[in-house]
Amino acid sequence: MFTKQLFAIFGDPVSHSRSPLMHNCVFKNLNYPATYTRVHLKDGSKLRETFFKLGLSGANITVPHKEAAFEACDEIRGFAKKIGVVNTIVNENGKLIGYNTDADGFMFAIEEFSDVKNILILGAGGTAKALGARFLQDDVKVDVINRSEGRLSYFKELGCNTFTWDSFKVNKYDLVVNTTSAGLKDEELPAPKNIIDSILDKTSFVADAIYGKLTPFLKLAQEKNIIYKDGADMLLGQGVLANQLFVNSALEKADISTFMKKSFEL
Ligand code: NDP
Repeated sequence: MFTKQLFAIFGDPVSHSRSPLMHNCVFKNLNYPATYTRVHLKDGSKLRETFFKLGLSGANITVPHKEAAFEACDEIRGFAKKIGVVNTIVNENGKLIGYNTDADGFMFAIEEFSDVKNILILGAGGTAKALGARFLQDDVKVDVINRSEGRLSYFKELGCNTFTWDSFKVNKYDLVVNTTSAGLKDEELPAPKNIIDSILDKTSFVADAIYGKLTPFLKLAQEKNIIYKDGADMLLGQGVLANQLFVNSALEKADISTFMKKSFEL
């Protein structure tokens, strides 16, 4: 007899997340006995306890709990170990195993942007860490600008040029990525407009991790005729990799990708 598995996404906010739709579309169409729901979690330190209380087989973690998710796990595997940021948890016989699929998901998303050698990351949270470390691995030069100083120390240690809004000096970039949550549930830019204007005037490509809306940042890029993309392909890339982990390779990657993509039409 099959026991139906339950998966979830934890976040605050979480109502915007398309992950339930994406994973359920895969499970339903490929007859995999599982359901995926969302959990609005305010206190990241309650993640582990909530996970077990709900009897979950696995979870995704979104803003702002990815670093708390790292702490909640019994074991960390792969790239997540390097960056201390977990966006996917799998329950392996009562042990929580943490992974990060955001970084490779993003690399998949920007495949069409050629010759990226020099990037600026806006923000210094979990997503910024994942992308920063992943780009450095490919010998791309990484600059980071963040609203506050504290989280920049991680990037300083990696050898990145780091700036707050006050100390920022613009450079020429191949790609600028917004990983802040500015524009997610408000209409804010990731930094004051004069800074964003100066950055956009010096870049070839722009990407935003936020999906499902044209953020004020992307709107400005559009007005300046810069080639841009939102976070939808990153969402797809990280989702396919997370689903493979959830089903422990019981489904084909190509099939997962097909039905996850289909969910974007719903
Ligand atoms: P974190 O909470 O870890 O980091 C948020 C970052 O945004 C911090 O650097 C913070 O600065 C900055 N920030 C927050 N609000 C503002 C603001 N109003 N103005 C300027 N900076 C701000 O979040 P995550 O890294 O987990 O996620 C960031 C974004 O990326 C979210 O919008 C999330 O939805 C999106 N995302 C999308 C994915 C996809 O698949 N498309 C995957 C992963 C994330 P400070 O340090 O000063 O607080």
